[in-house]
Amino acid sequence: MIGAGHAGLAMSRCLAERGIEHVVLERGAIANSWRTERWDSLRLLTPNWQSRLPGFSYQGDDPDGFRTMPETIAYIDTYARVIDAPVQTRTLVTSLRNDDAGYLVQTDQGEWRCRSAVIASGACNIASVPDCARELPAYVRSITSMQYKRPGDIEPGGVLVVGASATGIQLAQEIHRSGRPVTVSAGEHIRMPRVYRGMDIQWWMDRVGVLDERYDQIDDVVRARNVPSMQLVGTPERATLDLNALTDIGVKLVGRLAAVRDGKALFSGSLRNVCALSDLKMNRLLDVVDVWARDHGLDSDFEPPARLPATRVEDSPPLTLDFEKAGIKTVLWATGYSPDHSWVHVPVFDRKGRIRHDGGVTELPGLYLMGMQFLRRRKSALIDGAGDDARELSAHLAGFLGKTR
Ligand SMILES: Cc1cc2nc3c(=O)[nH]c(=O)nc-3n(C[C@H](O)[C@H](O)[C@H](O)COP(=O)(O)OP(=O)(O)OC[C@H]3O[C@@H](n4cnc5c(N)ncnc54)[C@H](O)[C@@H]3O)c2cc1C
Repeated sequence: MIGAGHAGLAMSRCLAERGIEHVVLERGAIANSWRTERWDSLRLLTPNWQSRLPGFSYQGDDPDGFRTMPETIAYIDTYARVIDAPVQTRTLVTSLRNDDAGYLVQTDQGEWRCRSAVIASGACNIASVPDCARELPAYVRSITSMQYKRPGDIEPGGVLVVGASATGIQLAQEIHRSGRPVTVSAGEHIRMPRVYRGMDIQWWMDRVGVLDERYDQIDDVVRARNVPSMQLVGTPERATLDLNALTDIGVKLVGRLAAVRDGKALFSGSLRNVCALSDLKMNRLLDVVDVWARDHGLDSDFEPPARLPATRVEDSPPLTLDFEKAGIKTVLWATGYSPDHSWVHVPVFDRKGRIRHDGGVTELPGLYLMGMQFLRRRKSALIDGAGDDARELSAHLAGFLGKTR
């Protein structure tokens, strides 16, 4: 197993249950990504109850709360201890190759040979930054959401946050509140109320079955694997954080960043449509919830259906922004993440450099993938999604090794 995040640990637990000897190699400490790659104020946007791992679930007195980073790290650390996972930390895997006998794993602590390997090294190792970042004027600082830790890291002055999914809107709010005027460039995004009809939206999605939708039962899995994260934040107030909440505090809204040229950012003219589409999709999901509640005879158990006001967009949102005139000193890229599989030297990549797989089963016998977006289910990349995937993939792996238990 490569990677001791929750996905690798969930798989480790399932392999142990089947009596499959294994080791988990981790370049840093357990839960390394949460320790080193997130910003200080981040809380999970999934409630505490929704971090169920094989043989382990939330036992505290705040099931609806949202974990801080130290709490998230402690949770995953505790899991590793409880399941007694055979983790070898501070071991960077530098190469994975295959031969007739199986796999050769090279690390900075020596070599391993194995019949089967599971890549659980994370879906969010690299911050995706568009090529136009190279065209930014020299006086504008470029920073990614993985480099950003706290507002004090950013010099005084205006900030352009590119991206309006969970990361972008959370950081836009935090930075704007710190006194640095923020402009948000919004492309496609998924809007959600934090609470709907008195219940958390994650509770609804779990209950209605949206998160359990399978990769082999939906129309376009390639598209589903690239859908941006939902606009959500986990705060004690359970507040909805959307573009309206941002413009309410004075954040400026512009369209998708299309190019940077001659000291100016150029934005797409589709902001209005993008926001209308996002409202439409949110309301469609809420319709599904309403139908579910009605069909299950539970309508009266919840608050009545309601809809958020449409996203407010000014009549003619600016199509250009002159960095100097607008006083923009920093561009923060919240434009998504991608995995780092540069150390994987086996012939399983597609034209776009992604590992080809069928629900985590690659074309190479004995090689598996965990923790990717919509790997086997909509919830696959969430902490809560690793359990079901690990149970199924460990069964497949056991079959490959000829173990029946
Ligand atoms: C900003 C952000 C917020 C998120 N919020 C939530 C949330 O609220 N709720 C939720 O359920 N999910 C959330 N997620 C999604 C998801 O839980 C995380 O991406 C999670 O970290 C994925 O778990 P993982 O075990 O697959 O990968 P990771 O946690 O990234 O673990 C992979 C491990 O592999 C190690 N590794 C990588 N390469 C190597 C190598 N070459 N050699 C050895 N070790 C290696 C890494 O150090 C790391 O420890 C969030 C993700 C991000 C980026």
